[in-house]
Amino acid sequence: THFGFETVTEAEKRERVAGVFTSVAESYDRMNDLMSFGWHRIWKDHFVASLNPGFSPLTSGPDPRAPQHILDIAGGTGDIAFRMLHTAHNINRNPDVRVTISDINPAMLSVGKQRSQSLPATQQAVLNFVEANAEDLTKTRPLHSDPSAATISIPDQSVDLYTVAFGIRNFSNIPAALREAYRVLKPGGVFACLEFSKVDKHPLFNAVYKRWSFGAIPLIGQLVAGDRDSYQYLVESIERFPSQEEFRDMIVDAGFVVGGQGYEDLTGGVAAIHKGMKP
Ligand code: SAM
Repeated sequence: THFGFETVTEAEKRERVAGVFTSVAESYDRMNDLMSFGWHRIWKDHFVASLNPGFSPLTSGPDPRAPQHILDIAGGTGDIAFRMLHTAHNINRNPDVRVTISDINPAMLSVGKQRSQSLPATQQAVLNFVEANAEDLTKTRPLHSDPSAATISIPDQSVDLYTVAFGIRNFSNIPAALREAYRVLKPGGVFACLEFSKVDKHPLFNAVYKRWSFGAIPLIGQLVAGDRDSYQYLVESIERFPSQEEFRDMIVDAGFVVGGQGYEDLTGGVAAIHKGMKP
């Protein structure tokens, strides 16, 4: 079965995405390695290094180590959040960096929470797990909290760095998510996105890549995770996501300022990094 997302409502899409990630949560990390030949690790390392968390060049004085609040949206099993903490605490030696890892799916976050138990205690202490729909950050709740308890709003202008990796293409309403990113960021704060993108600039590579993704990935999903449909969905969602330029324009429309062409291609455009600053 293929998911015909063009004809479904936002609510239906949200439900299907929830189903996909609940069923892939346990196999997610292994499958990432298999499907991308481990490349996703290199992209994530590069993404985090390029953001250099824990270092604030704008801070005056000899020590650029100002406190930072990083919000990792669609943080899933923690790959970005853990790298952020490692760079900020171990490399930049800035213990005043805290990370909120949020995701709409508690199953993904639970795997992340378990994985976080092998982090140093100082890093676990500044890591916060939150259930949140990226399209409405006014209604979040702590992971596994009572569903009837009051929700918590992420305040306006409370975040220094907003990250979203391989998440935004799953959102039902991307402009709404960008508006929320803009709202919660402080002036001078940065929106940063790592996402699958288009390899249109390289026709031959594009042909090979399409064959791989549409042919092999659902098959690997079936064989390794016993779940063909979820991986079929993942491939289709990559296909539907806007091009580098279109997505950059959406970020600009949300009010962000971008530098240069506004994005960086990784591996010929298989993935791309987009950044924007809230003026
Ligand atoms: N950022 C992690 C990484 O790079 O490994 C996880 C990426 S995973 C492919 C995508 C995540 O997006 C899933 O955990 C899913 O639950 C989450 N997600 C999908 N729709 C969402 C939404 N509307 N709000 C927040 N998270 C969402």
